[in-house]
Amino acid sequence: MQIAIDGPSSAGKSTVAKLVAKALNFIYCDTGAMYRATTVLAKEHQIDYGDEAKILALLKTSKITFQPAPQGQLVFLNDEDVTLEIRTPEITNNVSQVSALPQIREELVRQQRVIAEGNSIVMDGRDIGTTVLPHAELKVFLVASASERARRRFEENVTKGIDTPLSKLQEEIELRDYKDSHRAISPLTKADDAIEIDSTHLSIEEVTAAIVKLANE
Ligand code: C5P
Repeated sequence: MQIAIDGPSSAGKSTVAKLVAKALNFIYCDTGAMYRATTVLAKEHQIDYGDEAKILALLKTSKITFQPAPQGQLVFLNDEDVTLEIRTPEITNNVSQVSALPQIREELVRQQRVIAEGNSIVMDGRDIGTTVLPHAELKVFLVASASERARRRFEENVTKGIDTPLSKLQEEIELRDYKDSHRAISPLTKADDAIEIDSTHLSIEEVTAAIVKLANE
């Protein structure tokens, strides 16, 4: 069975997707981490974030992999652990530019389909239900208000000692939503057959339970 979880930034997709995968004993794939790792690749090689040909050439000779770990999942770019680096503001603020490049999307979508092939999987992202796995048995579109998403990000940052003001976080989230929804290729959209869940007033546990229930129906 394939479960696609899509939605805007910071709606809780990865947290919930991981828990759903654990509850169902499925594998989990965070496609946002793949776009982020590709952005790290460009940064490390000092390539302009809009230089599609150079980033693509590097991406094709690189390997993005995941490794399970007690605290979640580690992300590797070739042999380098980039788990922390992919969440830095430099990468977060530039990943939308890299992910708008059509050939980069084509290559990552190809890799994502290989990962999903023949597996029971929960995959989260922006275009999973519409493009990557259009035949997924269950599609969820997870949303939450921008102010609630900024509040959650703020609380998460506090635990990491990052003190970006709440208003700035909300601005960044809204800007990323705008870019992800307005790009020419595979913009963030709800698949016609996706079930929308608004998590603004729901806990992580409630959202997870709702998706597990849908999967078992
Ligand atoms: O989910 P996350 O916030 O980590 O995703 C980072 C970025 O990667 C998104 O803002 C979006 O630009 C891009 N992305 C995408 N398609 C996906 C997953 C992520 O374009 N399937």
